[in-house]
Parts: sequence; structure tokens; C-alpha cells
Amino acid sequence: MTFSLDTENILTREAAETRSTLVSNTSYTLELTLKEHAAEYRGRCSVAFDYRRGGVAPLKLDFITKQIHAVTLNGKATEEYLKGDFAIYLNEDHLTEGRNTLEITYTSQFDNTGSGFHKFHDPEDSEEYMHTDFEPYDAHRLFPCFDQPDIKATYQLTVNGPSKWTYIHNALPEHTRTNDDEVTIAFKRTALFSTYLFALVVGPYTRWEERYNQIPLGIYCRKSLAKYMDPDNIFAITREAMATLEAYFDYPYPYDKYDQVFVPEFNFGAMENVGCVTFTEHYIFRHKKLYSEHLNRANTITHEMVHMWFGDLVTMKWWNDLWLNESFADYLSYFAMSKGTLFRDALEHMYARKEWAYQQDQYATTHPIAASARDTIEAFSNFDGISYSKGASVLRQLQYFIGDEAFRAAIGQYFRRFAEQNTTLDDFLSIMSEKSGIDIVAWSRQWLETTGVNTLLSRIGNGKLRIEQQGSAKNSLIRQHAIEFTGYRQSGVALVINETRKIIIDGKTAEAQLKPDTAFVILNTHDHDYVKVFYSNDALDTARRSLQTIEDPFARRLVWGSLWQMVRDNAFAPTEFIEMGIELATEEKDVSILNSHIIAKIKAIVSVYLTDDNRAIWMPELNTMARERLARPENSEQEQIIWFGLLLETALLPDELDYLHTLITGAESVASLEIDQEKRWNIIARLMACGHAEAEQLFSNEKDLDISDLGLKKAFMVQASRPDSTEKETCWQAFTEQSSRSTDFLRYGMKGFHWHMQKELLAPYIDRFFDAVEKVYTERDVHYAGAFGHDLFPHWRQTPDMLHKIETFVNEKGTNGSELPALLRKQLIEQADDLKRILPILEKQKGK
Ligand SMILES: [Zn+2]
Repeated sequence: MTFSLDTENILTREAAETRSTLVSNTSYTLELTLKEHAAEYRGRCSVAFDYRRGGVAPLKLDFITKQIHAVTLNGKATEEYLKGDFAIYLNEDHLTEGRNTLEITYTSQFDNTGSGFHKFHDPEDSEEYMHTDFEPYDAHRLFPCFDQPDIKATYQLTVNGPSKWTYIHNALPEHTRTNDDEVTIAFKRTALFSTYLFALVVGPYTRWEERYNQIPLGIYCRKSLAKYMDPDNIFAITREAMATLEAYFDYPYPYDKYDQVFVPEFNFGAMENVGCVTFTEHYIFRHKKLYSEHLNRANTITHEMVHMWFGDLVTMKWWNDLWLNESFADYLSYFAMSKGTLFRDALEHMYARKEWAYQQDQYATTHPIAASARDTIEAFSNFDGISYSKGASVLRQLQYFIGDEAFRAAIGQYFRRFAEQNTTLDDFLSIMSEKSGIDIVAWSRQWLETTGVNTLLSRIGNGKLRIEQQGSAKNSLIRQHAIEFTGYRQSGVALVINETRKIIIDGKTAEAQLKPDTAFVILNTHDHDYVKVFYSNDALDTARRSLQTIEDPFARRLVWGSLWQMVRDNAFAPTEFIEMGIELATEEKDVSILNSHIIAKIKAIVSVYLTDDNRAIWMPELNTMARERLARPENSEQEQIIWFGLLLETALLPDELDYLHTLITGAESVASLEIDQEKRWNIIARLMACGHAEAEQLFSNEKDLDISDLGLKKAFMVQASRPDSTEKETCWQAFTEQSSRSTDFLRYGMKGFHWHMQKELLAPYIDRFFDAVEKVYTERDVHYAGAFGHDLFPHWRQTPDMLHKIETFVNEKGTNGSELPALLRKQLIEQADDLKRILPILEKQKGK
């Protein structure tokens, strides 16, 4: 058999499955030496494992490094290995049947992509910070390992480095030896867990500590952000979540400490490393935030904590079952929050997040919740609205279907049976069947193994409710739905609840008896189901008149959510949505509904779903409304944030831009609206993009005022917004050529590059996007490529020829032998799908 080194940084499922039959009982002993102001670090890693002969190809250890200094195998120096760019290979003949110990000393470079071992320099105080981030396949950027979830191991880490730095790992320190400016910390050997959950965070972090029962809790952030941190608040959320989860799972927190570290330039919201969760710094609130933003942060805190059980203690065998991690974390975080006292309305916010799932599930690229993952690249692409949000929603449906008692009993049993092991879909299904007495296989087939979302329509007549179920657009699958519905009667203009009842919809239609005076029905009350609900014209008329009289905010939210789905499906005119939003926004008392379901949707409509003619009509109208609303002295701080957002995004005409200018200079002020640093940058970007005469002066001043790393990044965003062809060219070079800048820095520039009002200036960047994008996806890491493919795609070009261009690009690449990178293909197909959805909506407006 011939053997060739890997040409891509990838692990296939097949190779992983083979390897886990050969290797077992693995442990790592790792020593790292870190120095100040260095681009590199040294490592020594000893991997001990049992080996069972039977492979034919050499044994692969995943490993990316700059230089290997020495390798010893079973105590003897050896040169009998092959080193490729992404792995080191050992011939089976050199391995012992049974126990083996491989030791490698090496020098590696820090990463600047946010993943691997990322290093960050703080421009404000010149301090350095480092953190690891490995999911799904990056642990081997730090040390040689079997980098797959089902070869679980223990780790003993020792770090040598400057004593002024703090070192945070999955386990607590065992010995610390300080010698002047140098320190050596030997950590305790960890519990057994997968390589992607290993963590090390380093730097002069500020620390806050507390306890939950006997478990030490830590919160960390870098020095220059410590003034913004609200540790009391985060500890309160942490303690409440821990208590709720331990009680609900009937299984104690499985590790001996719980640290939460806010790290710079993080690619995701957070990462559930065992006992050492890392978070994006966007969760350190530098300014006043909306309630929904506080809730989202609490949700992330709780989500990561759920992972300590779902994911860390019990882990999916391979990435095709990623949902076993993410669906549970996503659902149980909202569910646990709703049982606590801090965020009782959490499930309403879960409904808002489900739009992510509905959107993803209607793309041609959708996949079943129980997905496939041929390799680690496909594994990465499964971190999407299906694995998280649809999975969460379907678990909520399961809980409603089998009852909470059985659901909960099954979860406890799952942990007791599979602690420290790996599981597959079948393990989950058999426990759910066992505890509920219901055969879950049929349920799984409908919900976990198929794609698409059903739509429900209802009619009221002759004292009956008739529900019609439609299959999803791509397949005609009809599913079994367990839902609640609420009937309302009309009392004057008000809608008053008549009844709320459970109904099982099993087939294309279902019927239920209604109280005779029922005038309006909301389906899927409390959002137990994963389904779209559409309204008839009559029901829409009732909603327009009386929606604000419905007392339950969750019910009002569901109606707004439906209206938005109807806009996207071309079943409700976007201009009518705006009209209704303007009419009802003043009376909406729940600011989260006002923000997420009315104003955010109006902003999305203005940017995506309007023809240029309609945009020219509606933007000034909305800007005027926002300015009037802002001026009302009775507004809360929360409302002011929302109205300011609308004011900013609809400002285009000279006097509208001038008004923004007066707000930033302080020539005008508005009650309870603070023009904080973030708002200042956003105003300057807007003025710059629109070519306002004062923009350059403001920009120049602001750069001197805000010297934080975020300030530098926002400045790059403003620079990219400048309506100037030379500037666009400079930025484009930065995006397409290798750069020493971090991914995070460049991402800010990408966000400032495209603007509706710069169409002519940006026209050349349509072709240039297609010329460059394949190379970026081939040569750069997945996070960078994803940002490029999303943010630099010319979204503003909404024409049939653009759709044709994408389709031709995808099809031609598919047929001439050079396959497009899978993630790029997915991205472009979704962008084409967006256009297929938008074009008929725009076409309909032209007729009027
Ligand atoms: Zn997660």
C-alpha cells in the first residue's frame, strides 16, 4: 500500500474511526515555555497510549509546528518518523503492542486567527494575552495529539513563563515555583476529556473569585477592560444556573472548579473548555445595553455550563452527532433560565433566536439535525442554525410530547450511564424510549433525520378551528406536531382569552371545537413546536386592529414572528409590515418585542427587502419617526437605544446626517440618550460612508481620543467606509493578501466596506470578489474565509444577473474538475437562495 502525507489540515471520519480502534488509554504530559514579546513558544509533549497492531498505514498524530527538535519513542531517541505540515507519522513496526510513550520537543508560532494558540497585544497598555481555542480540530496546533473527540485523555500541564502573568487551565495548579520574574506552575492532572476541550489562557488578567458550594468560581478579563466588568452580575447568573442545572440533571457539577475567562479576539460567543470557559469580550459591556443583550449573555453563560455535562462529561463520538452537544446546550440554557428568577421570560427570547433555524432550514444547503460529517471541515460547517437552534426547538417539542418527567429522568440516566464516554444518536434514543415508554424511533425519523419546516394555517368557522399543515418547500413531509392554541374573543376592540388547549396535529389537517364567540386564534402558544404559522387576511385585519390589546407578551411576539416569516415568504408585503410596525410600535410595552420583532425587522426590510424607489420613500419617513420618538421625554433608556439605532440606519439626506453630527458634537442632546464611544464610532462610519463634509475632521479627532484595541478596529472600519476608490483599493489589498493583522482586526474593515449608497464605487468589487474568493477559502483558515465570504459578498447587488453570476460560478467550478471548497460552496448557494427569495419580493413592489 502506498502512503502519502496529508496535503490538507483535515481528519476524515474514516481515519478517526480506524485510529480509535488502534489507540486507547491515552494521557498527555505537556510542558510549555512562554516568554514576553516572543512570536514563538517551546513545547515538550509526552503522549502515552496503548497500541493495538492492525493498521496498515502509519499511525498519525495530528500536529502543526514550526520545528521539531527531538523525538523519543519508548525512551530512545528516534528519527524513524515522517513529518508532514499537519501531522507526524510513525511506522507500526516501531511501535510496541501495548504501552507506548512518544515524546516530542518543538518550537511553534503563536496564531493570530483567534484559534489554535492565539496571541494578542493590547495597544492601550502594551500587555500581551494568549488563549487557546480548539473546537473542532485545532488542539494539534498546540501539541501533538490524537485530535478527535472519542480518544479521550487526561492531561498534565506544566508552564514556565513570566511571573507577572496569570495562567488558567482546565485543572487547578498543584505546585508553583517562583524565581524572580519567572514562574513554573505544575497543574494537577485533569479529568478524562476530549482534546478539543483542553484550554490554556495566559496574561496579566484581572481576577474575581467566589464560590458555589465547594466549587471555586473565577471570572477573568484583561486589565484594560476590568473597569467595565460587572462580576457580581455574572456570579449571580453563574450561581443560579449551577443550582438549577445540578437539580434538574440530578447529577452534580462534574469538575473541581469553574472559571469564566473573557479573551480578546475570540471567534465565537464562547467555548466550553472543561472548567475554563472562554468568552468573547463583546460580553463585557462597555456601554448601556438592552435587556435582550443581557439575556443573551446570560444565555451564553448558561449554555456553556450545560456543556460541562452535555459535551464535556458525555461527548459525541464523532462530529456528525454535534447536535448531542449543541441542541441540548441551546435548549436547556433557555429552559433553565426560565426556571430561575433572573430571566423568567427566557423562552420568549428562544423564540426570537429560532429565526436562525427557520432561515437555515429553508436553504438548499440544510441538513438533518443528525448530520453527516465526512471530515473536520464538514464538522465545522455543522456549527449552524440547525445543530443549535433547530435542534433546541425539536428537543422542546420532544419534552412536550413525552412530558417533562420522562425527559428529565432520561437525561439523568444518560449522564449516569455514559459519564466520561462517547455516545451516538442510538444511545440517546434508547434512553428516551426506555424512560418514556414511547417508541422514539418514529419521532427521530420525522424530526432528527429529515429537513425542512412545516407551515400551519388556521381557519375559524361554525364553531370549529380547522388547521391545515403544509410540507416544506423542498420536500412535502408532513409531521406530527404537539402544540397549544389559544382562542380569543373580541370585547370591544380588545382580544380576551377564551381558552388555551393542547392539540396533536397528525396529518394534513386537524380540527378542534371552539367556544362559539372565538374571533381570533394563535397557534403554537408558548412555542413548543418547530413550525411556521401563517395568518389569513381576516386574521391579519384583526391583528392590525387589536394585537396590542393582547395582554400576554409571548402571544404578541408570536404574531410578530409570523408576520416576519410571511414577509420572507412573499405572503405579506414588506411595506405593509413597516406600516403596521409604525402604527403599533408606540403602544408596544415590551422593549424586547419592540426591538427584536418590530424595529430590527424594519431595519432588515429597509436594507434588503425594498426596491430603491420604496427605500427612497420609507427611509426618510422612518428617520423622521425615529427622531420624533427619541425626543419624547418619557422614554426609558432602553427605548432610546432602540430609536437611536433606527435613526442611525435610516440617515441619508443632508439634514438627517447633519442631525447625527449635532448629536456627536453635543450641539444637540436627547434626554436619557448617551452618545457613548460605540455610538460615536457608528455615527462617524455613517457620516463617512455618506460623504458628510465634517466626517474627516471627526474621524481624525476620534482616533486620538480612543486608543483602545476596539478603537483601532473601529477606525479601520471607518477607513473602509470612506467613499474613495484609492481607499477601497488599499483595504481590498489588506483583505486579500497575507497580513500580520489579526483576523479580528480585518473583520472590522470588512464590515465597513460595502454600503448601499456606494453602489457605483463598489461595482468593480463584484468581479473582484469572485476572482479572489476561492483562493481565500483554499489558503486561509475557516474563520477568516467565512468572514470574507460573508462580509465582502456584494449583498447590495440584488438583480437577476447577480443570481446568474453566483450560479454560473458554482456550476462551472463543479464541472471542470476543480471542486470549490465545501464551505465556500455552501456560502454561495445560501447567497443565491437569499436572492431567489428577495427578487420576487422586489418584483411584486414594482408592479404597484
Ligand atoms: Zn455550545
